[in-house]
Amino acid sequence: MVEHLRQHHGIRDARVLAAMREVPRHYFVPEALQGNAYGDHALPIAANQTISQPYIVARMSELLELDGDSSVLEIGAGSGYQTAVLARLAGRVLAIERISELARVAQSRIRALNIYNATVKCFDGTLGWSAHAPYDAILAAAGGPEVPEPLMAQLKVGGRLVMPVGERRDAQRLVRVIRNADGYAREDHGACAFVPLIGRYGWSEQT
Ligand code: SAH
Repeated sequence: MVEHLRQHHGIRDARVLAAMREVPRHYFVPEALQGNAYGDHALPIAANQTISQPYIVARMSELLELDGDSSVLEIGAGSGYQTAVLARLAGRVLAIERISELARVAQSRIRALNIYNATVKCFDGTLGWSAHAPYDAILAAAGGPEVPEPLMAQLKVGGRLVMPVGERRDAQRLVRVIRNADGYAREDHGACAFVPLIGRYGWSEQT
């Protein structure tokens, strides 16, 4: 899987590749699908959600430009896989998941892997997590109509935010926002397809 990320997708960051090598992805997918855990595709998990494709996990991690002191906010912990990868790359990871059963299982998997610098809590991540703000990096693994205002506000000057954004759920772009002294710079990193970001500053549950 890691060779494929490097050769086929051009993932170059050695720390990201090492983290992807170290975190056992099969541990985060349903038992029946464990044989497919190291293929480069998203897979279904509980509650109609998905574990992200390895390529997108690597790409988003790379775009966050983390080091061992970074504090990271993650929205949409899902299986906890991306959380575990981020925990290898950063100093501290605060992760939010709106579905309580997923949040509970993600947290227990992370503890079972002896990862102690990541915490998963259950609430609406579009509000951010102000108690630990500001963050060096913010990652949302679910797609919304725009970057939620509270997340922009909780980013440090110099910080990076990566998230899928699209006016329609089926037309998302991977967006990176960098906060600088004068405001925010925005980059487009191509098409992507994520489950919807549901919450106060995301999509409403019905749509
Ligand atoms: N990176 C995760 C991807 C999980 S899919 C993994 O690899 O497993 C995205 C997750 O975002 C889903 O579990 C969904 O429940 C969650 N989500 C959607 N809207 C959210 C919100 N407002 N706050 C927190 N989590 C949210």
